Amino acid sequence: MYSRFMRTPHRRIVPPAGESNALRDTSATARGGVTEFEKMPERSESGTGRPETNGPEIGPGDLGSRIDRGEDVLLIDVRERDEVALGAIPGAVHVPLGDLGRRIDEVAPEKSRRIVLYCAVGMRSLYAALELGRAGYTSAVSLAGGIEAWKRGGHPVTEPRPEARRLLRYDRHVRIPEIGREGQTKLLRSRVLLVGAGGLGSPAAIYLAAAGVGTIGIIDDDVVDESNLQRQIIHKTRNIGMPKTESAEETLADVNPDVCVETYPERLVSSNAREIVGRYEVVIDGCDNFGTKYLVSDACVLAGIPDVLGSISRFEGQVTVIQPRVGPCYRCLYPEPAPPEMAPSCADAGVLGVLPGVIGVLQATEAVKLLLGIGNPLVGRLLQYDALEARFREFRVRRDPACPVCGEEPTLKSLEDYDAFRVDDACRS
Ligand SMILES: [Zn+2]
Repeated sequence: MYSRFMRTPHRRIVPPAGESNALRDTSATARGGVTEFEKMPERSESGTGRPETNGPEIGPGDLGSRIDRGEDVLLIDVRERDEVALGAIPGAVHVPLGDLGRRIDEVAPEKSRRIVLYCAVGMRSLYAALELGRAGYTSAVSLAGGIEAWKRGGHPVTEPRPEARRLLRYDRHVRIPEIGREGQTKLLRSRVLLVGAGGLGSPAAIYLAAAGVGTIGIIDDDVVDESNLQRQIIHKTRNIGMPKTESAEETLADVNPDVCVETYPERLVSSNAREIVGRYEVVIDGCDNFGTKYLVSDACVLAGIPDVLGSISRFEGQVTVIQPRVGPCYRCLYPEPAPPEMAPSCADAGVLGVLPGVIGVLQATEAVKLLLGIGNPLVGRLLQYDALEARFREFRVRRDPACPVCGEEPTLKSLEDYDAFRVDDACRS
């Protein structure tokens, strides 16, 4: 299903959602197919981006004056419910295109009744008018240019419903069956914590905010340094010297004012980790030192919250999801911290500026999937990306039954710090 969709060069060749087979087959074929229709606007002389047709249509001005004169016109809105919620022509009856064949007898028992059908731009309603004509309705026409042309002509429409207005920003999410209004509402109510507003946290935070994740917590005790700007895209040159939490909050407010940003301009340590982590549903770990990674993983396992781990160095990055009690935790993967000399920080080793973009966005993607409960999260799998080779590799990783945190007989019941192993995280990924 998806592969076919991906190969389709023009998305709008796909017939409108909800269109019945009968409507699709007859009118599309009779008029040269939907493809033909969609190509035509380029040649259109009307300047409105829609084709000239000889179909049964009425212009917005003509319809407006007929309504004003009090003529008996049955207006049928054939759009989907979400579209109608954004505003409709007053007095219209709502019958989605897919239901029209089934419901027309009840809505218009008289086949001679003057019917004006409309949709967004006049495509679906034209099909519907042609189809009703074939079914014996002698006076069914389509509003040319749809409600969009009607609005442009200054004619009245009903006020959008508040919840519909709010969801307008997320229209491309709402259109995905796996997300829809329900999924988007879930995202707007969800809470994600970002540990570190650095290279990984930057793209993750921006995409999560854009996607409408309602509350984003950011913990970072660092200030913006000029050497961060090569990759930490949430921070701007004008914000050098500003706390990273404040700088990130400023950017996210610009990206999406719907999002509530909770900032913690402090270091995540054993004494505050459990309480802060426990306020969120998913944690994105974008820090670049073993000490904090163990601490975040431990806190997430103890709180039963998934931890989306990312790390980067030079041209390579990796990402995995720690789902407590389901897959391995960070201690299962790395029972002992590597000695500092074996794990140089970004400040020492360097990192390709675009690399955290790839890994941070993978982390954000996993977080969104976890929040929505869709797809297969990277649990028990470690995805490694080699930028120079342009290659992804996946490794299976297993839970350690003897793990002191998530094993069968856990010994670690409270958090501890790993300062002894702390790598200087001047670049925070
Ligand atoms: Zn473990």
